[in-house]
Amino acid sequence: MEAAGKFVEDDTLREALKERGIGTPATRAAIIETLLRRNYIRREKKQLHCTDMGRCLIALIQDPLLKSPEMTGEWEEKLKQIERSQLEPHDFMASIADYIRTLIQPNAGGQANSTHWGSCPLCGSEVIKGKRAYGCSGWQDGCAYVLEPECKGVALSPKQVQLLLHHHILPQPIRINDEPRMLILSTLGMPMDLRLPSADRQKKVAAPERPAGKK
Ligand SMILES: [Zn+2]
Repeated sequence: MEAAGKFVEDDTLREALKERGIGTPATRAAIIETLLRRNYIRREKKQLHCTDMGRCLIALIQDPLLKSPEMTGEWEEKLKQIERSQLEPHDFMASIADYIRTLIQPNAGGQANSTHWGSCPLCGSEVIKGKRAYGCSGWQDGCAYVLEPECKGVALSPKQVQLLLHHHILPQPIRINDEPRMLILSTLGMPMDLRLPSADRQKKVAAPERPAGKK
């Protein structure tokens, strides 16, 4: 987390993160503990690994900014400006409120248009329906994206395809091999099934493997 600045392209924001990284050393341990407690990550020896639940959360968050170290960098930069009396705390808070409003709005009205299948996960062009599968309308420009409407032998309805292309995750689990699975679209746009977070959590509770030393 100290090195989060490495992943940021903008010079000013990288500078802001260089000093503090994400969170302060004092809050960092608490953040990791919270992520562990909510089962978004798990400890394996000295390493922290993302759980299926963590991956679901990341897939669910639509706004890339919310997942990026850029935003923390930007906020750190603004906090510095407040320290130097270059920015009013009220304006900072108001800009965050505005941002949250824009995040919530698109989902409020939310039904997908019946002719709009979604955007190509690879190039952003419109996805069109073919005879058998769905594909990128930008195929003449060289985009080879094709989405087969099935995952591990389970057929996906047109509505499910549309939801997947729009949200990159299905709100309802599907049954694969008689087991409920979350269906997400990978970064390459391929359907991927994940174990249900709740099953993940139950397993976690059942396994008494907390390393000694930490509470
Ligand atoms: Zn494409």
